[in-house]
Amino acid sequence: MLDNIEVIQWLHTSDIMQLGSLWKRADQVRKENVGDEVHFRGLLEISNHCCRNCSYCGISALRHDIFRYRMSMEEILECVKQAKKFNYGTIVMQAGEDYGLTQDFIANIICHIKQETSLAVTLSLGERPYADLLAWKRAGADRYLLRFETSDTELYKMIHPALPTTGLKRDRFVILRELKELGYEVGSGVMIGIPGQSYESLAQDIQIFAKLDLDMIGVGPYLPDPKTPLGKQFSLKKQDVIAMQDTNIDLSQQTQVPNSELMTYKVIALARLMCPDANIPSTTALATLNKTQGRELGLMRGANVVMPNITPTRYRVHYTIYPNKACLADNAEACHQCMLKRIELVNRKVGQKQGGRRKLV
Ligand code: SAH
Repeated sequence: MLDNIEVIQWLHTSDIMQLGSLWKRADQVRKENVGDEVHFRGLLEISNHCCRNCSYCGISALRHDIFRYRMSMEEILECVKQAKKFNYGTIVMQAGEDYGLTQDFIANIICHIKQETSLAVTLSLGERPYADLLAWKRAGADRYLLRFETSDTELYKMIHPALPTTGLKRDRFVILRELKELGYEVGSGVMIGIPGQSYESLAQDIQIFAKLDLDMIGVGPYLPDPKTPLGKQFSLKKQDVIAMQDTNIDLSQQTQVPNSELMTYKVIALARLMCPDANIPSTTALATLNKTQGRELGLMRGANVVMPNITPTRYRVHYTIYPNKACLADNAEACHQCMLKRIELVNRKVGQKQGGRRKLV
């Protein structure tokens, strides 16, 4: 375990020798605690409808210029078959916060998947009501992903406006606790380099991963989309110190975390040291920054999971949460083959089971 001062020091380090020792330590802790298997989670982006106004996201309700889709039950089950064929351990169904995906619709799909396959089911459908989370658990869902994005409450409020109906009472931390109590394996995480994110707050995020005893930790760089409100602010000159809207958040270079590839590796490595037995993916956002080697370097610096995209190509081009997303023009087969090659390159094994969290006890 590292204390807060050590975490902040690591976040500031650019010394190559020191970083080499961090990568080595993270890789060792990964090997000792979760082994050499890399677990494959087939990522299916089932809808890009969304009722939220998140200022960072390219499919938020603020975007009136994008094509919206919602996959049918038959289309989803067809993709599930493919995940089974590829021998994946898990299917992840992700979407915008879309109430057109009703409680019953999702529960039915989960029942079907559970009857027909031995896949673990992970959901990532936003801040749904407790009754939905309960129904889906009862239908057989295993895991839920909900990133808290940043633990800086001021910054979070600004980039992720609350719904008028629920207000601030049921925030993402409350939901993460509910999920845990319901028996889900719980995944969360943050974006790295959000405008206004300080080193202190990122260090706090990493401490919170451990405090929440997360089963899965997903982190990736914030990738600005100039068509979103936050992306527009980001494109203002870096040296500008911007007093953002009504807050006194400071964007000067000393306190602003960069949304860089290096910073992402550091956070992956530190998350591994803080949460030795968690499942940590090498994410698509990271692969977007370094399409040649990002996935591999993530796996060599603490990660043990990949999430090949199995969304039909005709839909995935519309699930543009950020620009230039890796694998956008590929199909499921291409993503599968590409991922297999990358695992071989880093001398690791493909996980053969569901790959749930292996507790230390
Ligand atoms: N509606 C779901 C799924 C959102 S997409 C939810 O809100 O949980 C999954 C993750 O993509 C988000 O949690 C966020 O961390 C990440 N993301 C969204 N926009 C991004 C951007 N511009 N750059 C990098 N990551 C982004």
